[in-house]
Amino acid sequence: MSAKLIDGKYVAELTRNQVREDVNHWVESGNRRPFLQVIQVGTDPGSTTYVRSKTRACEDVGIETDTNRLPDTVSAKQLKDLIRTHNENDGVDGILVQLPLPAHLSSHDVIESIDYRKDVDGFHPMNVGRLAVDQPTFRSCTPAGIFELFKHYSIPVKSKHAVVVGASNIVGSPMAIMLSRENTSGKATTTICHKFTKDLTQHTISADLLVVAAGQPEMIRGEMVKEGVVVIDVGINRVADETSEKGYKLVGDCHFESVSEKASWITPVPGGVGPMTVAMLMKNTLLAAKKSIYPE
Ligand code: NDP
Repeated sequence: MSAKLIDGKYVAELTRNQVREDVNHWVESGNRRPFLQVIQVGTDPGSTTYVRSKTRACEDVGIETDTNRLPDTVSAKQLKDLIRTHNENDGVDGILVQLPLPAHLSSHDVIESIDYRKDVDGFHPMNVGRLAVDQPTFRSCTPAGIFELFKHYSIPVKSKHAVVVGASNIVGSPMAIMLSRENTSGKATTTICHKFTKDLTQHTISADLLVVAAGQPEMIRGEMVKEGVVVIDVGINRVADETSEKGYKLVGDCHFESVSEKASWITPVPGGVGPMTVAMLMKNTLLAAKKSIYPE
């Protein structure tokens, strides 16, 4: 079998077009434009790239945005005080703190200091907890984007065996919760794997749906999956490439050539999950502005 490509760039464009239309309608109905406050600590080039793509997406769909750029020496108190001012500002709908943070700052503490009603990343324990009990919430953007891809390509989830490789708070864990719990779009039988999983292949080879978010370049190879599997490759890894001008190229957590020979569907890297994450952030910011999840 040779896999069909899941085109995240295309589906993200459709999603953004829909958000743009909804934002226009919201503003034409007499409301102010949604506003996303972004906070970046330090000058990590990866974070700078992600922040740039998020603020550009805001401009594209008509969401107002501003970025606070703080030095990597900022104290936890200074950062949380700043977040508090945004929490209390009625003109701010969504607050996003770009991760990772420098080692002296606890991302748990910082995320918990965000008003959960403005947590458009869906990382606050309140929102993760509501996800776990299948209540309306800000669904974290990467897994929510993957579910949009399932919907667009009519890829069935219910009753399938889903295997998630990676158990982070921002991708693997919420993905596994959504796959297993959500009544409307989930209800897969779900296995979650991490570094302590013994014999990873024993799990991946039995997957109907395989979501890989481990941050390990090309770790999943063709011999680790079964014929017909649907593969969602979340990983974005820079590996050295002398033939490229930049000196590196981006690869996923799956070895694309060998896995795509057996899969029925696969996301490419880049152009798969990444653009969906940003599109879902736009959607969540609009939901926050409309107070759709947490009415006043
Ligand atoms: P983390 O490093 O926070 O988490 C990685 C997870 O993978 C951990 O749960 C870890 O296990 C597990 N893991 C690592 N190595 C192995 C292994 N050999 N076998 C099994 N499990 C393993 O990463 P993130 O979740 O933040 O990101 C994962 C990848 O996805 C990265 O490449 C990142 O760049 C990318 N990403 C892409 C996004 C997108 O929009 N496309 C958005 C966010 C991330 P343990 O819990 O035991 O440590």
